[in-house]
Amino acid sequence: MLAAAASLLNIDVVVLDVGEHTPAKQVVAPRAPSLAHIDGSFADSVKIRKLASKVDVLTVEIEHVDVGVLEEIEGKVPLGVHPSPFTIKTIQDKFVQKEHLRASGCPVSDFLPVESTVEAVKEAAERLGLPLMLKSRTLAYDGRGNFVVRDLKQAQEAITALGNRPLYAEKWVSFVKEIAVMVVRSREGEVISYPVVETVHKENICHLVFAPLRSRDPSIAERARTVAENAVKTLQGAGVFGVEMFLMADGSVYLNEIAPRPHNSGHYTIEACETSQYENHLRAILSLPLGSPALKVPSACMLNILGASSSMDEIREFAQFSLTVPGARVHLYGKSDCRKGRKMGHITLVADSDAELSKRLRPLLEHLPGGHD
Ligand code: ATP
Ligand code: MG
Ligand code: MG
Repeated sequence: MLAAAASLLNIDVVVLDVGEHTPAKQVVAPRAPSLAHIDGSFADSVKIRKLASKVDVLTVEIEHVDVGVLEEIEGKVPLGVHPSPFTIKTIQDKFVQKEHLRASGCPVSDFLPVESTVEAVKEAAERLGLPLMLKSRTLAYDGRGNFVVRDLKQAQEAITALGNRPLYAEKWVSFVKEIAVMVVRSREGEVISYPVVETVHKENICHLVFAPLRSRDPSIAERARTVAENAVKTLQGAGVFGVEMFLMADGSVYLNEIAPRPHNSGHYTIEACETSQYENHLRAILSLPLGSPALKVPSACMLNILGASSSMDEIREFAQFSLTVPGARVHLYGKSDCRKGRKMGHITLVADSDAELSKRLRPLLEHLPGGHD
């Protein structure tokens, strides 16, 4: 999606990823041999250096990268690395991220470092209470890395499930809704934000995103945007950031985590906003004027298409069904294999009212692969 946005602006993109025909490489055909894509891992320092030698600005779409190499090459790429390696380093260890946010005055729930022992988990539960959210500090995504300890008897099970990774624990947050805001930060540190959205997760994976947030009290959205913008102001470097938050019954907001890149909760912006999160990411890292993040439709939502099994046919059939729904736009990512729970694509749905949106959404939910509801 970033490559597609770049292509409309005649911006050349060189992609580093494993495989010759990975999704982004399917979108951009190199205009010159010097712009050929690179086959390799984003954790491979040799390949990252090769990429850096070919580009004016280097950006990432995942935070689990070799940040040491990025720090080393930061000054050698003409327009730098964005977001900055400092930001990526702070965010990729979720415990360090939380410490940074707390020290910067951002609202986060209580948390503690935890050793991978039964005693340490029990001690954390004594201090923070049950249920306890035990999390891997690194390499986490889609909730793979989280374990909810509801009973102290589960301490060993939790350690086994999370393996030998460094852990920390968070106090359980009894939120009424999960919400998110995409924030764009220019190279000069100016920030603008997209509307507040509601994110609905199923088994820890984002299932639906509704924009804008449906709430009778407009001050809630205002507060959430301020929290999100203030959090991003504490980081460095340009680009878009996805800020995940918890909304409490009293209208207060806690920060969950920040993604230093285009984010699933911002996919809806392609069809529903004046400027998509991808185009604004490019504009930010290239010092182009930022585009308006305003909604251009009254109501929108995004529905993730997750693999139900290894069957690609189910995905294709669902995508084809979505073509019959007014206001629906399907995005298939071109991933080569389908797996249960893997994000294979998404649908953005727009409508003139929330009521019309719900009406259009219903048949899509009924036809989802694997019979989701
Ligand atoms: P992502 O794919 O968003 O990067 P992740 O693996 O980093 O996910 P988190 O965002 O930390 O995981 O947590 C996943 C989900 O678990 C959250 O969206 C929320 O539903 C729930 N969750 C996380 N932290 C807490 C908490 N402290 N209390 C209650 N629920 C939580
Ligand atoms: Mg995360
Ligand atoms: Mg998350």
